[in-house]
Amino acid sequence: MHEMSLAEGVLQLIEDAALSQGFSRVKTVWLEIGQLAVVEPEAMRFCFDAVTRDTIAEGAVLEIIYLPGRGWCVQCAATVPIAEQIDVCPRCGSHQVQPTGGTEMRVKELEVE
Ligand SMILES: [Zn+2]
Repeated sequence: MHEMSLAEGVLQLIEDAALSQGFSRVKTVWLEIGQLAVVEPEAMRFCFDAVTRDTIAEGAVLEIIYLPGRGWCVQCAATVPIAEQIDVCPRCGSHQVQPTGGTEMRVKELEVE
């Protein structure tokens, strides 16, 4: 389950931010997950709860924001919406679609006190 290492990465980010910004409690974490990032939201929540136990982010609410997948279709020479890493172009059916967006995961915002 790679969500566990992703959740640890998120916690690391939060702890680094806590050090530099001087907050001691995190109430909400907004996490952006691309549609193509292959992250299971329920697994992510579970792992986040597990790794944040006894940390400044214990009990924090994890808000997940989904970013749509995008790809570049060689045939259409255009950016098209795609739902999977390996997907066909919704316009022309071509398999020559290169994912260009929606593969990332990042912390967008923290609500702290
Ligand atoms: Zn196309």
